[in-house]
Amino acid sequence: MRDQIRMSEPTQNQQYDAVIVGAGIIGAAVAFELAKKGYRTLNVDKLPTSGYGSTSNSCAIVRAHYSTYDGVAMAYEGFGYWKDWSGYLDSDDERGHAIYMQSGTVLFMLEGGHHEKVLPLFDQVGVPYEVWDNATMAERVPFFEHGTHGDPTRPEDDRFWAEPEGELVGGLYTPDSGYVSDPQLATHNLQRAAEAKGGTFTFKAEVAEVRQADGRVTGITLTDGTQIDTPIVVNVAGPHSFVINKMAGVYDSMNIKTRALRHEVHHVPSPAGIDFESDGLHTSDSDLAIYVRPESGNNILIGSEDPPCDPQVWVDDPDDYDNVVSDEQWNAQVLRLARRMPSLGVPNEKKGVVDLYDVSDDWIPIYDRTDLAGFYVAIGSSGNQFKNAPVAGYCMAELIDAVEKGHDHDADPLVVTGLFTGLEMNMGFYRRNREINPNSSFSVNG
Ligand SMILES: Cc1cc2nc3c(=O)[nH]c(=O)nc-3n(C[C@H](O)[C@H](O)[C@H](O)COP(=O)(O)OP(=O)(O)OC[C@H]3O[C@@H](n4cnc5c(N)ncnc54)[C@H](O)[C@@H]3O)c2cc1C
Repeated sequence: MRDQIRMSEPTQNQQYDAVIVGAGIIGAAVAFELAKKGYRTLNVDKLPTSGYGSTSNSCAIVRAHYSTYDGVAMAYEGFGYWKDWSGYLDSDDERGHAIYMQSGTVLFMLEGGHHEKVLPLFDQVGVPYEVWDNATMAERVPFFEHGTHGDPTRPEDDRFWAEPEGELVGGLYTPDSGYVSDPQLATHNLQRAAEAKGGTFTFKAEVAEVRQADGRVTGITLTDGTQIDTPIVVNVAGPHSFVINKMAGVYDSMNIKTRALRHEVHHVPSPAGIDFESDGLHTSDSDLAIYVRPESGNNILIGSEDPPCDPQVWVDDPDDYDNVVSDEQWNAQVLRLARRMPSLGVPNEKKGVVDLYDVSDDWIPIYDRTDLAGFYVAIGSSGNQFKNAPVAGYCMAELIDAVEKGHDHDADPLVVTGLFTGLEMNMGFYRRNREINPNSSFSVNG
């Protein structure tokens, strides 16, 4: 394997076939898949252990309702990994394995809503679903009201409090979706799985430089001056992806850019008498621009679907942002859910998390090579790629292996066949030099 993939003469210092910058869920998945192919991998992360970056605060929702065929296909392929997580890992973790909570998803259907895009895509891809009318909704999810409220607004706007304008058309239910119990643990599972195949991880180690010679990567240098030589570097640095691209000198040459966006997720107790942890499911409510899922301790977790009325807080320095839940956004998200779920009490204590999305220009990730030979990117996960991490890891390993063996991915985009669904995933869809995809929702829905 080493001889096949090495493009330059090995230096004394070269113990690794590939260095992966980042040990979040996607970086760890890339490591596992490359290690399975025989690459000697090293993940370098500046945090104390795997999954401590933005992955740790992920809602870890696994659902298929993306806006494009490719988005739906990759997400549906991902279900297979999560449904047999332990089987996929093929290794033990002293902390146990994360659990896939197959709660199902209901995407609220309203006139002109996201489901109109999604339903034909589910048919094309073959995603199992049920269409629920409001009577079925009342039976299956009795805690939700069916009113519609017009364009999403904020509580400080009088329109927020107006009576509902109309009714939902119903709900689009997918039984296979759900969420992962603990995203940090799932990442640790992948770390252990990669290590079992020979992969190495180093923590509290910050990459300061991506070195190159003659148009090819030669290694990285850490902030303490340590040099690690390698012919392949994979940027999986999450919200720091643009920083690493600038280090490698590829930022300007990529048509699609990535930026860090601040995002809040709030936790509230289920209303009295409702066991949302057992009876609840993941819902995507584009009428009120929120998504929710059950959380342990009979809580409900509430995220935002990025409506235009909410301020977007782009962060220039991903190491320096306000990570305290704000009163304004807490009120907006919790009161939106209270409109849908009238029995919800609004607690005084504001609980939640704040973290960063690594958002691409069209909210679709970039899984690609770059103009610098040996430098690859798995970035722009746009708040919606936790679920796809194992598929992305598999596809990136296929892509890296093919390109290193001489495949011209730019001229002839690689097509990867899904292991679970047999679906063809055209990696050209995720290329760095695509035009902005107009079919995107330009939100977390991808
Ligand atoms: C609040 C929130 C909710 C989300 N909810 C969902 C959801 O429900 N479903 C879903 O599918 N997706 C969701 N996502 C998105 C998903 O969590 C991310 O797409 C995914 O976790 C990204 O993984 P990653 O490995 O690319 O990045 P990260 O987990 O951010 O890992 C990147 C790593 O790179 C390291 N790093 C950066 N710079 C350097 C450097 N110079 N040197 C060394 N190490 C470096 C960091 O320390 C970090 O550990 C959510 C994201 C957020 C923030």
